[in-house]
Amino acid sequence: MATRRLYYGDSYQREFGAQVLSCEPEARGTTPAWTVVLDCTALYPTSGGQPNDLGKLGDANVLDVRDDEDDIVHVVDRQLPVGSVQGCVDWARRFDHMQQHTGQHLLSAMFQERFGRPTVSFHLGSDLCTIDLRGPEPTEEILEGAERAANQIISEDRPITVRYGTAEEFAEIGVRKEVQRSGILRAIEIEGADLQPCGGTHVKSTAQIGIILVRRCTKMRQDWRVEFVCGRRAARVARHDFQLLYRTAEELKCAPEDLPASAQRAIGERDSHFKNLKALLQRLAESDATVALNAARPEANGLCVIARTFDEASQPEYLSHFATQLAKSERTVALLSRSGGDLIFAQHPTAGKDMNALLKQVLAEFAGKGGGTRDFARGKLSDPAQGEQAVTLAARLVSAG
Ligand SMILES: [Zn+2]
Repeated sequence: MATRRLYYGDSYQREFGAQVLSCEPEARGTTPAWTVVLDCTALYPTSGGQPNDLGKLGDANVLDVRDDEDDIVHVVDRQLPVGSVQGCVDWARRFDHMQQHTGQHLLSAMFQERFGRPTVSFHLGSDLCTIDLRGPEPTEEILEGAERAANQIISEDRPITVRYGTAEEFAEIGVRKEVQRSGILRAIEIEGADLQPCGGTHVKSTAQIGIILVRRCTKMRQDWRVEFVCGRRAARVARHDFQLLYRTAEELKCAPEDLPASAQRAIGERDSHFKNLKALLQRLAESDATVALNAARPEANGLCVIARTFDEASQPEYLSHFATQLAKSERTVALLSRSGGDLIFAQHPTAGKDMNALLKQVLAEFAGKGGGTRDFARGKLSDPAQGEQAVTLAARLVSAG
């Protein structure tokens, strides 16, 4: 015997009496659960893009509600005896679903009627709802236009009713949606706006949708996914958006309406500071290199070898500039490392060594990777703590060779 679906006749029924026909244990993670079949229920099972209801059956909490062919299966957290039971629906959750779901009917109808964009799928998430539209990318005018048209119909408080008929009867009065089921179908009519076959739960007049707020539109394979929220959710989302704007404006010390200009200015300043920093790093490296060259004494082989290890606070660009500047001086070799594992070996061509070969030799001793040219090579050690040892080895190899 099929479960009688009380929500078909009255979506506003929050409490109901029913008979428990069966109650079986269900394997569900580590918490014990039972599946219950009733003769009738006001609890909605996950289907048609609308999530399941929650609520209570007697003292048991309802964890899930799902379709099982013609039956509805309730998953509950404690065993129920066969016989009479009182059930109730978590109304805040259900009413939210009814607002979102009915809003979707209306919004889809507006995209279709006004802009020729059919809805190919619908999803009601815990935060956002989405519809996927087929056709070319909806412009800002289309998104706003559909939202405005839907909100106009909401403000007109039009009745929403359930109609029954066959697929042929509905097709005759212009229902486009194809349905696989035969026999008598249930359809939802928003007066003068939409008629759709649907087994979900809906509010009884458009005013109860509250408001529709269309948000982002993104490409989803061949379709366009439009995010939207209705009713209390829309108020929550708008409040959240405002708080984000307000907090960001406080950070940038401007009015929310000046945010785009302020953000642009802040990014411009950041970019110019970054440019200045780079120029200053180069100048610093150049002057440090001059000091280092003045203090250096040539070795017995006539080469001036400058070996140094820098801490992590030194920028990698600084090291590059420092090495490049040292290597401008004749018969000079620069062997640099930085905690973090960076290595730079550079020379003036008159030094006559091969920095790439030297780096390969050092990397054969210490794990890492890198490469370069005869005069400039760059590497990275796997163990960032070995920089100083690597430079010491390189200096020994240069002096010996
Ligand atoms: Zn529906």
